[in-house]
Amino acid sequence: TLGLIVLDKKSSRIAAGVSTSGAPFKAEGRVGDSPLPGGGLYADDAGGAAVATGDGDNMMRFCPSFQVVQMMRQGIDPQTACREVVKQIHQKVGTDMFEMALVAMDMKGCTGSGSTVLTWEDVCEGKTYEGFPYVRWVEGECSE
Ligand code: ASP
Repeated sequence: TLGLIVLDKKSSRIAAGVSTSGAPFKAEGRVGDSPLPGGGLYADDAGGAAVATGDGDNMMRFCPSFQVVQMMRQGIDPQTACREVVKQIHQKVGTDMFEMALVAMDMKGCTGSGSTVLTWEDVCEGKTYEGFPYVRWVEGECSE
């Protein structure tokens, strides 16, 4: 999956897009989470945007992108929002946890990320795996 968030600070508009090859060996007609608003992506000028990937058939049950954006609307920073959503889903499904990753940006251009490539004990201790690669590009500059 390739997830993209674009923010135009001048007009205070934000957009998200997701491209996916789909899960390996996907069933015919399978849509997956990537094109589903709230699942693979969500954007709202009032809070920010989020993109997600992982085991889409499981992820779409939780609307993770929508949840992250709702938190940012309430003033929660993108990093905390991603961490919270991953943690809440993990707490719900426990040892049946599936692979997922989230990237978010708020209307100031601050970014955050979260992923479940962790043990259950790590999550209970408040740790999240935030080391998967994503790129932040600001007015010609780029930082990872
Ligand atoms: N999230 C995608 C899906 O489940 C998988 C991927 O593109 O990596 O369809």
